[in-house]
Amino acid sequence: MDEHEMSQPIVSLAGVTKAFGPFTALHDTNLQLNAGEFVTLLGPSGCGKTTTLRLIGGFEFATAGTISIEGRDVTALPPYRRPVNTVFQDYALFPHMTVEENVAYGLTVRGGAVSKQDRASRVRDALALVGLSAYGARLPGALSGGQRQRVAMARAIVKQPRVLLLDEPLSALDVKLRETMQIELKRLHRELGITFLMVTHDQNEALALSDRIVVMSQGRIVQVGAPTDLYDNPGSAYIADFIGASNLLDATFQSASDGVDVFRLGDGSLLRKARRGRETSAGLREGARVRLGIRPEHVHLAPVEGGNEIQARLAGSLFLGDRLRLELFPARSERPFFVDLHRNASSRRAPEAGETIKLYVGAEDVMCFAEPEQ
Ligand code: ATP
Repeated sequence: MDEHEMSQPIVSLAGVTKAFGPFTALHDTNLQLNAGEFVTLLGPSGCGKTTTLRLIGGFEFATAGTISIEGRDVTALPPYRRPVNTVFQDYALFPHMTVEENVAYGLTVRGGAVSKQDRASRVRDALALVGLSAYGARLPGALSGGQRQRVAMARAIVKQPRVLLLDEPLSALDVKLRETMQIELKRLHRELGITFLMVTHDQNEALALSDRIVVMSQGRIVQVGAPTDLYDNPGSAYIADFIGASNLLDATFQSASDGVDVFRLGDGSLLRKARRGRETSAGLREGARVRLGIRPEHVHLAPVEGGNEIQARLAGSLFLGDRLRLELFPARSERPFFVDLHRNASSRRAPEAGETIKLYVGAEDVMCFAEPEQ
């Protein structure tokens, strides 16, 4: 691969819009995927994830804009003429065909100039890759959900696509199996070395698997970044709350000094925030309304040096196995505020509902979002 090929995105969307009648599911979207990346499209139901995937796969056609794969304009090409393959949410296996036949089918559709011998060896390789070598003669009905998922993967990779599109591939599986299959997916991605683009609405899945996450909302991309980047520097309160949990507090900007911004909370108390990362407070005027975000894991019950103190009333708690999640309400705030108490980290007695307790948050752990007035 020469330098030019390496720097060229494998998939590129330029100004892509998709309308269904009067409804626009995707607005003027630009996105580039690099060769070998694992990228997820993440967002709530209806935000346009599947539409984006189907546009790249060729199952929908753009109303405006251009889609290129490996530098070639594929905007008007049908699915079988694109170097991509799709794993569908429901697997779409043929119940009357054996596992082997289902996988081989991936090679026979349209223009498959693959010899019989070559076909058999490719099917064998694909089944070995997904750990199903011993299941070739079975019918899908005689497989578990996880095994059916693997057959769907084998059928999609047998054609050796450059890009694999995955539409919520694990959503039909129970939680335990889902975790096992996440590890499998990651291994497959590593071994195949091709680009994976996966749709999910499960933020943990996106965080665990992706090189980059594309966060979508209402038919638009709202932020793209590596998991740690999105988690540490979310561009909006929406993303802070969607990627990981975030406690949000309404506040007004008070003053700035020495790399620290000071905000006033609803009850009149002040909260100090150290400036870092992608800051929105730089251009704020005194009295400007903002939302502050604090991750549950950054809230402490013991004072932290140079930190903030927040008084809050405990509304209730949830036992989560390894930790106790407290639900609190800071004075004059109607938004719940969550704090995780790890069971082995502290021997202090758990506070009781109705009690007012002091919470402590380091100035460097406060995020600020300049939100438009609502
Ligand atoms: P989910 O997680 O529920 O699958 P999504 O983010 O994948 O959601 P899309 O399936 O891309 O969302 O749908 C985006 C919007 O476009 C939705 O409001 C949906 O109703 C609409 N939409 C999708 N396909 C069509 C269609 N063929 N005709 C009309 N509207 C459609």
